[in-house]
Amino acid sequence: MISFSGYNGRGIAPGTVFGKLAAALILGTVQEGELPLPLSRVTRPRLGWAREAVYEAGAQLVHAASARW
Ligand SMILES: Cc1cc2nc3c(=O)[nH]c(=O)nc-3n(C[C@H](O)[C@H](O)[C@H](O)COP(=O)(O)OP(=O)(O)OC[C@H]3O[C@@H](n4cnc5c(N)ncnc54)[C@H](O)[C@@H]3O)c2cc1C
Repeated sequence: MISFSGYNGRGIAPGTVFGKLAAALILGTVQEGELPLPLSRVTRPRLGWAREAVYEAGAQLVHAASARW
């Protein structure tokens, strides 16, 4: 099983809980319908390239501004 998880910097508790749940799901001791969150398929975001460009431009602006002041 390969899994990618993002917890926005707060992963100690949820990482532990979701890790145990993933193990139980693989072992079959927990069924998909019993999970506290629904499983979802990974999809490409719409206009992902445009969002990336906006975030990148914003980050560059913040870095440029903070380097100046
Ligand atoms: C600076 C910082 C501050 C944070 N502060 C908080 C906080 O205050 N509260 C909070 O809830 N979360 C915080 N987090 C996030 C939290 O640390 C992570 O979400 C959590 O540790 C993720 O757990 P994990 O078990 O998924 O991964 P990890 O804790 O990264 O564990 C992965 C383990 O796998 C090992 N490993 C990697 N590759 C291999 C390999 N090939 N073979 C064998 N072993 C391998 C690594 O050495 C590591 O021990 C912080 C993270 C950082 C970086």
